[in-house]
Amino acid sequence: MTYRITLIPGDGIGPEVTAAAQRILNTLGLDIVWETHLAGQSALDALGSPLPAETLAAVQNSNATLKGPTATPSGTGFRSVNVELRQKLHLYANYRPARSMPGVPTRYEDVDLIVVRENTEGLYSGLEHEVVPGVVESLRVVTEVASERIARFAFETARRQGRKRVTCVHKANILKLSDGLFLRTCRRVAESFPDIAFDDSIIDATAMKLVINPHAFDVMVMENLFGDIVSDLTAGLIGGLGLAPSANVGERVAVFEAVHGSAPDIAGKGIANPTAIILSAVLMLRYLGEKSAADRVENAVRDVYSLGSARTGDLGGKATTAQFVDALLAAMA
Ligand code: NAD
Repeated sequence: MTYRITLIPGDGIGPEVTAAAQRILNTLGLDIVWETHLAGQSALDALGSPLPAETLAAVQNSNATLKGPTATPSGTGFRSVNVELRQKLHLYANYRPARSMPGVPTRYEDVDLIVVRENTEGLYSGLEHEVVPGVVESLRVVTEVASERIARFAFETARRQGRKRVTCVHKANILKLSDGLFLRTCRRVAESFPDIAFDDSIIDATAMKLVINPHAFDVMVMENLFGDIVSDLTAGLIGGLGLAPSANVGERVAVFEAVHGSAPDIAGKGIANPTAIILSAVLMLRYLGEKSAADRVENAVRDVYSLGSARTGDLGGKATTAQFVDALLAAMA
């Protein structure tokens, strides 16, 4: 089968790490037709829009999209391309696994967590306004429809992967209406999955418990902002953002990207860790049904780390992005 894959290089380290992932995917013997489209600051500079209509159409019409990080100005400027992409294309589920990498020293061994983040509403609804000068409001929208959809995704993911438990993470003790609805909906969906255990945990206690004992959790489902923060925490548990992949999944469209951002502090130096985007590409291969190709890349990544054959600066090594890819290709050969 021919796969039409949209490639969004993105900003900062995006072009470096997506090129690395593309190099790996091109050696797998798959029939991939790449279509490169701009988004983010690079698109604004070149085409006058951070999310051009042609990029949106390409994402919609391809089999899958591999996306580099895109920069978003803080406190001013254009709206996040990521939020816009996720909302416009109904990429309602953000799947963020965090699995220990052999040979990467961390506080805990054998961490194997999945964060499922609601990707379309909550505080990312984009509904902000000034009430009077000096007073602003950001609306935190929670709907039953989106809560049910994400809860089902979490349980179906747990079932498909042979997981034992789903934990709803929330702040329903304070946010009685919004997180109350989210928690109630998760509880109701749990009744349809009697083979998977269900419990809930308040977000602040969850952060503490994750740091003390990450093995206390399995699959965790939560609203948008909590998921954003908790998935950086779980990335930290396995060695950092350089290792954390993610998938944004909708009914018919999916966008695969690393959890990390554009890392302007190391952009253009050729030293970024490409592991997170390569593992995101592995998630993309699984989404496309290319299980053996996915296993081949993932196993080779794990071999590179367990043998210590290449390691980038974020993990205390000296390898460049290109040297890491060379080591990975050698492990795949
Ligand atoms: P960041 O993830 O870009 O960087 C945080 C730290 O991690 C930096 O020190 C960086 O050098 C390091 N780092 C990140 N990825 C790395 C890699 N692959 N290899 C080695 N080191 C790596 O977070 P930030 O600095 O808060 O954000 C920078 C920009 O990225 C912002 O404009 C933000 O909006 C954007 N962002 C985009 C996405 C996305 O497109 N999905 C996600 C998060 C942040």
